[in-house]
Amino acid sequence: MSSSLSAAASSSGAAGQACYLSASNAQAWEAVYQSVDAYTRGQVAAVVADSAKELVDAFYSTLLSDAEAGPRLSHEIVSTRLHSGMKHWLKGLLCVRDQGDVAALMATQKKVGEVHARVHIPIHLVMAGARILKNEIAQRLRASDLDGDAASVATQYVCNLFDLAIEQMSRAFMRDINRGARNDEAYRLFALGQNISTERERQRAALLEWSQAVLIGLHYRAPEQALPRLAASEFGLWLQHKGGVMFESAPALRQITEAVCRLDDVVLPQLMQGEREGQRSLPDQVRELQELVARIKHLLNGLFDMVAEIESGSDPLTNVLNRRFLPSVIGREISISTRQNSRFSVLLLDIDHFKAINDEHGHSGGDQVLRQFAEVVHQACRSSDFVFRYGGEEFLVVLVDTAQDAALAAAEKLGAEIRRHDFNIPEAGVKHITASIGVATFDGHPDYAYLIDRADKALYRAKQAGRDRSVAA
Ligand code: GH3
Ligand code: MG
Ligand code: MG
Repeated sequence: MSSSLSAAASSSGAAGQACYLSASNAQAWEAVYQSVDAYTRGQVAAVVADSAKELVDAFYSTLLSDAEAGPRLSHEIVSTRLHSGMKHWLKGLLCVRDQGDVAALMATQKKVGEVHARVHIPIHLVMAGARILKNEIAQRLRASDLDGDAASVATQYVCNLFDLAIEQMSRAFMRDINRGARNDEAYRLFALGQNISTERERQRAALLEWSQAVLIGLHYRAPEQALPRLAASEFGLWLQHKGGVMFESAPALRQITEAVCRLDDVVLPQLMQGEREGQRSLPDQVRELQELVARIKHLLNGLFDMVAEIESGSDPLTNVLNRRFLPSVIGREISISTRQNSRFSVLLLDIDHFKAINDEHGHSGGDQVLRQFAEVVHQACRSSDFVFRYGGEEFLVVLVDTAQDAALAAAEKLGAEIRRHDFNIPEAGVKHITASIGVATFDGHPDYAYLIDRADKALYRAKQAGRDRSVAA
């Protein structure tokens, strides 16, 4: 024991250094595993393996009684699944004889962080959970065969491993949360962008109206009445409140705002000043006004074009929703269903033997079929449903407020529509195709990826069973 202690003590410097290395660096993990000797690693492994169930029980009973964490975890499926998942995670991290499979451990932490991001479990709750586990393990280590110093070295080792795991999780969490926020943002823009062409016309007209009001005001307005400021006009208000959101960080937005300030703060005062001094015509100022208005019009056009093209949100070939909005849409449906205790379902459709169509009619023939296929699916759905292009010849439909039986019936009806439809390939005539459909209904699990995975497995079974059919998860 004393030799193991000294080995641990002499290498604790390495563990100290490891603190400066990032958790995404395998060396940091290896250094922590090597910071204690095999005997200590074995003791920790034994303590954790022997009490894994109690540790996880303690973890959940504390978290479930927490006002913030409780409601997120109370669902039965999550608890039962998480319970075994947590045991597995603990053992993977701490029941290690040598130094573990560091690459696999790092990948696991990354995956856990991604799940937390999807389910919106914040980092502070993860840290609170880790604190519970660290304390439970430390208590057991003190009561184990390890003497005082050795128990403290073992506890430090356990804490370092927890910290590395959380650091690695947090990286993945932050990356995915940011990406999710960007997609939510893009989705909102897309929703705003639905009436982008009316908005463009309206704002062009509002800008023109303001410049006419100024020009007319130069000749016909009551004495001492000021010329109207652009920032306070309909256009100016729209620019500040809506334009700011729609075009956020676009450089042209700043240039427009600068032009508005120049008009309000320099050109208008000069025009009014000139009037007071009895100058009848102010050609320079009027010319500058017209130039600035033309510049704003030009910049605004560019911004609207950018939103219309880049953020159209549709798949360019089939015109259905781009799959990057899937997390935003399903996330929203999950919160609605949880709140209202209702159900929604997803259908995952895959065209049967699509490769043969490409082989026979070329890629452009295949594209024609894909376009028409999306249209058939779109027509068959209610306007409240969402149709996504999920992959090459795969589509995903979110059927809102639809429980399993109705979803399966909808899938079968859709399958029949597809079977019956005349697909047209120019120069090749009418073509008939079929699709296989996997159906999954929301069952309370807060992770949308789990729902899609169930639909995918059902789709696989539909393919295995001979295609051209619907199978429920
Ligand atoms: P299965 O019934 O098992 O689904 O057979 P399949 O032939 O439909 O499936 P597979 O996955 O073997 O082939 C899918 C084909 O879809 C391969 C790919 O070239 C084609 N594809 C993917 N995206 C597009 C696209 O945008 N346009 C066209 N024309 N073809 C595409
Ligand atoms: Mg496929
Ligand atoms: Mg296919």
